[in-house]
Amino acid sequence: MRIRTLLTWLLLFLGATWVIKNNIVQIPDNVQQTFRNGVSRVTTNLNSILDSNWNFNQNKTSTKKDVSDDATPVESIVKNKNLSNKYYYSYQAGTPDAVQNVFKRAIATYNATGIVKIVPGAEQGWLNHLELGTYRKNVPLNQSRTIELGIGGPKIMEQTGVVSRIANHASAKLNIYYNKAVSQAVATHEVGHALGLDHSQAEDSVMYPLDREQTALSPADLAGLKSIYGETK
Ligand SMILES: [Zn+2]
Repeated sequence: MRIRTLLTWLLLFLGATWVIKNNIVQIPDNVQQTFRNGVSRVTTNLNSILDSNWNFNQNKTSTKKDVSDDATPVESIVKNKNLSNKYYYSYQAGTPDAVQNVFKRAIATYNATGIVKIVPGAEQGWLNHLELGTYRKNVPLNQSRTIELGIGGPKIMEQTGVVSRIANHASAKLNIYYNKAVSQAVATHEVGHALGLDHSQAEDSVMYPLDREQTALSPADLAGLKSIYGETK
């Protein structure tokens, strides 16, 4: 009698465990789905413009200071270089029209400053050039709560000696894995990097590392550009 009761309880217990286990096995599909949506919503809210320069600069700018009145920082490799303010630009093969359009608007913004002059043209020799295009990169959400929308930066070639010359063969790319990367603000930010601007902690700067849909250059951004390319040449 006792043993039977014990067996009954044991069976009940095992049965309950099996049901619970089964639930645990069955529910996760929904749970994971919900979780995934939740995380991606948070990620979208963070609206990151994160690019490779971001982590790098986070480490670099350990001494925080109020930068709101200062010029937007410039990348160290373009500092005190006698770079021409004239640039040629071309698109990587297969760059979608929508991407070309946002880059065109970004370029118009920089040209309107009179500080740089960016015109269509292939990469050649010691002339400054911007290569514009796209890439696809999915940053796993469990590794980062931010999404990477673009990448851009200068590539300085320099010759010193009897004949000294310098050119910037830069690139700016939008991460078309994410639809929201195809925006004038992201293009303006990445072209800014290509021209030598670094991240700014001022929220009205196009070089603020998170996407604020900022498409107009701030006075500090203009000052940063002038520090690289001088006044109107
Ligand atoms: Zn950036």
